[in-house]
Amino acid sequence: MRVILLGPPGCGKGTQARLLSSRLGLAHVSTGDLLREAIRNNTPVGVKARVFMDAGKLVPDETVNDLVHERFRRIDRPTTFLLDGYPRTLSQAAVCKKLLTDIRQPLTAVILLDVTDEEILRRITGRLTCPNKSCGAVYHATSKQPKVPGVCDLCKSKLIQRDDDNEKTVRSRLEVYHRETAELVPYFRDLGLLREVAGQGEIETIYQNILAALQKQAGPTC
Ligand code: AMP
Repeated sequence: MRVILLGPPGCGKGTQARLLSSRLGLAHVSTGDLLREAIRNNTPVGVKARVFMDAGKLVPDETVNDLVHERFRRIDRPTTFLLDGYPRTLSQAAVCKKLLTDIRQPLTAVILLDVTDEEILRRITGRLTCPNKSCGAVYHATSKQPKVPGVCDLCKSKLIQRDDDNEKTVRSRLEVYHRETAELVPYFRDLGLLREVAGQGEIETIYQNILAALQKQAGPTC
């Protein structure tokens, strides 16, 4: 199964991607994670990306496309995967489509998680993230508190608020989503790949709804 998870920042893509990848054995490819890793390692890509990410802007297409190509051109590339946070522009979608066609790994479906802007603001500004790369658990200051304040329940790392999880940046990211990424909805609908799932409610219910959407008859592949 090869799936793109689409939706505004904070719609729960990361949480659902972790569930889908651990339960269905799909590789989780998140461009946000790849970029944050590049920043942590202070690579040239990381230095360039940081300015855009801190401002809530999209990192240039070419940089992100290169990262994804690097991941999928390798001999050990995944054959079943979830793309989380990529593509985010029409131009990235065209590059993605060509890449997957070239490596003969057509998409199964694109899941769109629908969440209102108000709910996203509430979620992201209270979000606490585990910085441990092999954990990545996500909490919320009021609605999903860790057992010990500020400490990850699973790996005991000290939780952080991501640099880009503040109100000003979130508003900017939402604006970018509506201006650039929302165009992908009709694009993937026209390809017969789009499945819409409500992204508000219990995490497990949303997960089951995603599974049901994936089991619907597959449309033409991209
Ligand atoms: P995410 O973790 O998916 O919310 O991404 C965090 C930030 O990384 C975004 O706000 C962008 O600045 C950057 N980013 C992640 N994926 C992409 C992408 N496909 N295109 C451009 N920028 C991206």
